[in-house]
Amino acid sequence: MSNCIRCQSCGREVPEDEFFISAGQTLCEDCYIDASSRIRVCDPWGERSKLVFRESHGLTGTDGLTDLQKEIYEYIKSKGKATRMELAEKFMLSSVDLENQFAIMRHCQLLKGKKEGDEVYLVPW
Ligand SMILES: [Zn+2]
Repeated sequence: MSNCIRCQSCGREVPEDEFFISAGQTLCEDCYIDASSRIRVCDPWGERSKLVFRESHGLTGTDGLTDLQKEIYEYIKSKGKATRMELAEKFMLSSVDLENQFAIMRHCQLLKGKKEGDEVYLVPW
């Protein structure tokens, strides 16, 4: 067995010569492609216009979210923090689905990522 690196997004083991680095994270090929296609989602203008949209429509907190997003948010709020793995398991989501949900909630300034030691947690904003 050659040395393996753990993908920091989906947790899969990737051979040492087959991993990618994106924003300081070691990722497998799938997650790397996924991360690169999502970069535009994280621009501050996107975040801002989403907030303006929500404000102009009188939406606050979890208003305007899907039931799934509300459930994820409530779950994290009740626990204070949760890992992606934990959420993927609990809500039966693929890592891509979970990232997409997280991206939306991050835009709404409900959740954010927080690094503690070697783990990245999702925490209330
Ligand atoms: Zn991966």
